[in-house]
Amino acid sequence: MIREIAKQTGVAFRLKKGQTLKVIDPEGEQVSDMVLFNGHDIKEKISSGKTFDFEESILLTKGNFLWSNRSTKMMEIIEDTNGRNDFLLAPCSPETFEIMYKHSGYHPSCFENLHTNLEPFGITPDDVPTAFNIFMNVQFDSEGKLSVLPPTSKANDHVIFVALMDLIVGLTACSAEDSNNGSFKPIHYEIGG
Ligand SMILES: [Zn+2]
Repeated sequence: MIREIAKQTGVAFRLKKGQTLKVIDPEGEQVSDMVLFNGHDIKEKISSGKTFDFEESILLTKGNFLWSNRSTKMMEIIEDTNGRNDFLLAPCSPETFEIMYKHSGYHPSCFENLHTNLEPFGITPDDVPTAFNIFMNVQFDSEGKLSVLPPTSKANDHVIFVALMDLIVGLTACSAEDSNNGSFKPIHYEIGG
């Protein structure tokens, strides 16, 4: 069954070891931030640093694993029809819009959508790590300068992950203008197995 994450919102759910998670960009050019926690011990969570270390790359796609802060494989990416994801940038937060967009007043954010949906699992805002940003197109030059470009994903591009341990998953439809080429779309996902 395909479920929808409405634009600028998020969800959290359990995924059992061996189950698959398919994350779909139904309209194209829409980022989805994903965080992972051990389903039995929320102190173990997804780690960008450990993943870059063990995968020996900052670009992660089919065949790569997502690792935890305790150096355990949490997921494997088994399909990626777009092929571009980001694991450098933290989830967009209220401060992102104040500092980078000079926006005043309320603005939805992945950070809020992650911690509010993860709260029933005992996860607090300070527990939210750097997310694996599915479909996010962050480019960098030889000097290390970063730029956030529109996603290269087209309608119905998808990434399939398999869980290598019991997990709690937080997943969003990203709320940052620059990450999504200026418009906000839903994200679809499907749990298999
Ligand atoms: Zn976001």
